[in-house]
Amino acid sequence: GAGREPLYLSALNETQREAVEALDGPVLVLAGAGTGKTRVLTTRLAHLLNTGKAGPGDLLAVTFTNKAAREMKDRVAALVHRTVEGWWLGTFHALAARILRSHAEVVGLKPNFTILDSDDQLRLMKQIVQAADIDDKKWPPRAVLHQVERWKDRGLGPDKIGVAEAGDFAEGKGPEIYRAYQERLKTLNAADFGDLLLHNLTIFLTRPEILERYQQRFRYILVDEYQDTNVSQYLWLRLLAQKYRNICCVGDDDQSIYGWRGAEVGNILRFEEDFPGARIVRLERNYRSTQHILRAASGLIAHNEGRLGKTLWTEDDPGEKVLLRGLWDGEAEARYISDEIEAIERRGGSLGQIAILVRAGYQMREFEERFMTAGVPYRVVGGPRFYERQEIRDALAYLRLVHQPADDLAFERVVNLPRRGIGDSTLQLLHRFARANDMPLTEAALRLVGSDELKPAAKRALGRFMEDLDRWRGFARDLSHTELAERLLDESGYTAMWQNDRSPDAAGRLENLKELVVAMAEFETLGGFLEHVSLVMENAATDSLEKVTLMTLHSAKGLEFDHVFLPGWEEGVFPHQRALDETGLSGLEEERRLAYVGLTRARKRAWVSYAANRRIHNQWQSLIPSRFVDELPKDAIDRVVDPGLYGAGRGGEETDEWSRGRLGESGGREFGRFFSGGNAGRSTVARFGSRRDAFARERSPRLIESASSSRSSGAFGVGDRVFHLKFGYGKVTVAEGDKLEIQFDKAGTKRVMASFVLPADQ
Ligand code: ATP
Ligand code: MG
Repeated sequence: GAGREPLYLSALNETQREAVEALDGPVLVLAGAGTGKTRVLTTRLAHLLNTGKAGPGDLLAVTFTNKAAREMKDRVAALVHRTVEGWWLGTFHALAARILRSHAEVVGLKPNFTILDSDDQLRLMKQIVQAADIDDKKWPPRAVLHQVERWKDRGLGPDKIGVAEAGDFAEGKGPEIYRAYQERLKTLNAADFGDLLLHNLTIFLTRPEILERYQQRFRYILVDEYQDTNVSQYLWLRLLAQKYRNICCVGDDDQSIYGWRGAEVGNILRFEEDFPGARIVRLERNYRSTQHILRAASGLIAHNEGRLGKTLWTEDDPGEKVLLRGLWDGEAEARYISDEIEAIERRGGSLGQIAILVRAGYQMREFEERFMTAGVPYRVVGGPRFYERQEIRDALAYLRLVHQPADDLAFERVVNLPRRGIGDSTLQLLHRFARANDMPLTEAALRLVGSDELKPAAKRALGRFMEDLDRWRGFARDLSHTELAERLLDESGYTAMWQNDRSPDAAGRLENLKELVVAMAEFETLGGFLEHVSLVMENAATDSLEKVTLMTLHSAKGLEFDHVFLPGWEEGVFPHQRALDETGLSGLEEERRLAYVGLTRARKRAWVSYAANRRIHNQWQSLIPSRFVDELPKDAIDRVVDPGLYGAGRGGEETDEWSRGRLGESGGREFGRFFSGGNAGRSTVARFGSRRDAFARERSPRLIESASSSRSSGAFGVGDRVFHLKFGYGKVTVAEGDKLEIQFDKAGTKRVMASFVLPADQ
């Protein structure tokens, strides 16, 4: 009997419906942009609940970006008319973090582990690369970290890196460095983003009963943007779906844009092998864009060779052609776009429906400046994000340290910020002591404060800081987390530091700190807030004012806007220079997919622009239009190029532009020389510094290690003759555990730590 069918089903076309109603068994929806893949996924979720096939607790829905997760939550909530908070609906990282918190001990972590951001990761890797004694000019820590992350993306732990895989990367020390890095993370009670998935896999594979529990729970699994899953995400899904095989993935091979992060389009092809009998659904009608936009995007992506290939059509109006505009320089481009935006607004368009999508974060600044001058409200998504601002990171480090005493990276960041007279030598000593005794820096500091190992001033300063920390931890128990934050920032002298700062951006920083407390208020606990921060890498706008969105192409995936501006289509900018330097086409094809993603975000109109001159990393460069510009089908675009941009006769106003450009060029060179001079000087210092470090490493740690291994605490007795690295020879007068009082021949009586003392022969 045909009952009355739910409204959400009648809002679908026939193929979409087929994908929604095939509730049981594996389903793969493979379709182009704007064909309703995400709509299918959210409707399917609603349908599962509506038919009673599943309750909220039986569902696992995964997507890629936080923004997409938010959007999916909103769409589902609207369909099912209730809140979806607490459901297993989110990004791979957020879901994996949630699972890991419940079973942290399986992989040697505590449940309150910290999730590191890229800054922390890099700092850690620097230390490890240095200790590994490899040429860090040839193997910069950033590159080593990248390799480790790729291994994690492929689901490979340090023990899985065979000789062939390791190759001569980092002088063959790749696996060793990877292992050291993982061990450090464990000591810090921390995980990086890649670990979240990798640790989940370890848990599932070593503890089948845990896996079984999650398989049982997630009877229905839904995955958006499937083309961008990497191997470890893929394995994670496959393990979870193995029992019920009710998995529905939607994706588009033409939008695979995370190859550089280890995503594998091959996962789409493997789906049918891994889930035999899978139903494959293809959607071809695009509901998002006008004909011209769609034709431009399809014409462009047709230049890629490695495609599964598909048809896309729309019943929408032809609409306006894509506007292609060549301009003098980046500033002119920003001015042009901001003028166009004001024109859209005058015609009644909404700022919230306008996006500017850039290839790389640094391109945003020019627009930000222009918008501030012109008074165009805008928000930045991705790029230099709120939580990545210096003052916010500092404040977060304070909070992290209070929340999790073993967080060494946080300790290091704030121990002398504002300046408290705790210098590098003190920190080095702390580090050595902590390493020799395998303890966190906080604990090492506590022990050293009671000794004479530190200079009196440093000792007092560190002692005060440790007392402060102790008091703040008390606040963490007794006060609300927002009050804690305010007291912490005031009592530490951190806010005073910016109040006394005369630089023009100090006021803005103080505002940001206030905004941080506002952001915290949305969470119930400090732990909950910190978790949110580690996961949410974007500045979710809190106010409702309509704003232009400025974001990278990567973070725009899955979203849509009436009006989309795509600036910077120049060779070397987009496609990115890295892709051009690569041998083979894969990098370039990924750039082209990114362009396709950009164009297909637009509902009504798209603008593509390029500049003839641009200042890139403080150097003026002449640029030629992107090859993608020429690949746009002529009948879908209107091209307007300012005359004389590329070397033709110049006159009138153009001369001004020209001379401005030339001036800029020579100015740029001057500037460049000034800097490279400065850099050369600095790198000499750095080289000297690292050589000195290496020297110190060679001498002292070995002494310390042998001291601490042969003489564990308490191994010295009164009357023993000893040698101390700083104070020389002496005789033990008091021995209390690892603390000794020694009458030194030259330095007088000092209290020192046993770790820093060697037995002397006589
Ligand atoms: P992308 O590949 O960019 O992620 P998508 O395939 O996920 O796109 P959706 O975002 O789900 O596409 O849909 C694109 C737009 O088309 C949305 O605004 C959606 O509401 C609308 N849409 C999808 N299906 C239909 C339909 N059957 N009728 C009307 N509108 C639809
Ligand atoms: Mg989508």
